[in-house]
Amino acid sequence: MRKKLIAGNWKMNLNVTDTRKMLSELVEKNLNSEVEALICPPFTSLEAASEILKGTNIKLGAQNVSEYEDGARTGEISTNMLKDLSVSYVIIGHSERRTYYGETDEIVNEKIKRTLSQNLKAVLCVGEDEVERRENRHEEVVKSQLEKGLREISENTEDIVIAYEPIWAIGTGNTCSSEDAESMCKFIRSSVANIFSSEIADNMRILYGGSVKPSNVRELMSNENIDGALVGGASLKAEDFQSLVNFGE
Ligand code: PGA
Repeated sequence: MRKKLIAGNWKMNLNVTDTRKMLSELVEKNLNSEVEALICPPFTSLEAASEILKGTNIKLGAQNVSEYEDGARTGEISTNMLKDLSVSYVIIGHSERRTYYGETDEIVNEKIKRTLSQNLKAVLCVGEDEVERRENRHEEVVKSQLEKGLREISENTEDIVIAYEPIWAIGTGNTCSSEDAESMCKFIRSSVANIFSSEIADNMRILYGGSVKPSNVRELMSNENIDGALVGGASLKAEDFQSLVNFGE
C-alpha cells in the first residue's frame, strides 16, 4: 500500500562535477522498481541532477526552501525555482537546520504550508536529541514537533512524508535499534492520526533516518511502520545508494 521511499540527503556534499559523476553511474544501475528512489543534492547541483535524472524513475528533491514567494530575500530559494528544475520533494526542518540555522517549528510550519500549496511534497524531519532520549522525553518532543509543524494544514496531506531522525543517531554510526525505530514510527503514526485522521495516518509514509547503511537497511525496512529511509553519509556513492534502494543487495 505505502510505497517505500529511499531518500538520499547529500547535505553540503558533491559539487556539480561530483554530482554528474555520481548520477551518471547511478542511472546505469538496476534499482528495485518497487521502491521509490529520491536524491536531494545541494541547490547548486539541482540543474545538473535534473538533466541526468530526466526520463528515469529517480526523483529529485531539495534540502530546504524559503517560506516566501519570489522577491527580496537574499540568499534564499523559492518553490517556484525548485519546480522549474523538476524538483518534486523538499526536506523541511532537518535537525541541522533547526540547530545551526535557528529554524523553529513555526518556520518549519510556514515552509510546509508553502511547499504543499505549490504541489511539492514535503519531508518533515522530527527527532529528539540525546539528552531528551536519556530523560525519556522523546515521544513528548516528537509529538510537539509534529503538532506545531503540521498546524493548520488541511490540504494536500497526501504529499506529506515524515522522517523520524533521532539526532544522536545522525552521522554518528549509532543507529537506533530496529525496535526503537519501529516503536517511534508507530508513535508518529498515532500522533498523525490525532492531528489529521487515521485514514491519513495509514497512508502517510514515515521514514527512519540516522546512520542507515547497506548493512542495516533491510532489517529497518522489515518493520511494519517504517516506510523508507532518509540517508546522509551512505547516499553519496552510486554503489551504496543502489544497495540501499535494493535493501542491502
Ligand atoms: P546519516 O544522516 O545517514 O549520515 O546519519 C541522516 C540525515 O541527517 O538525514
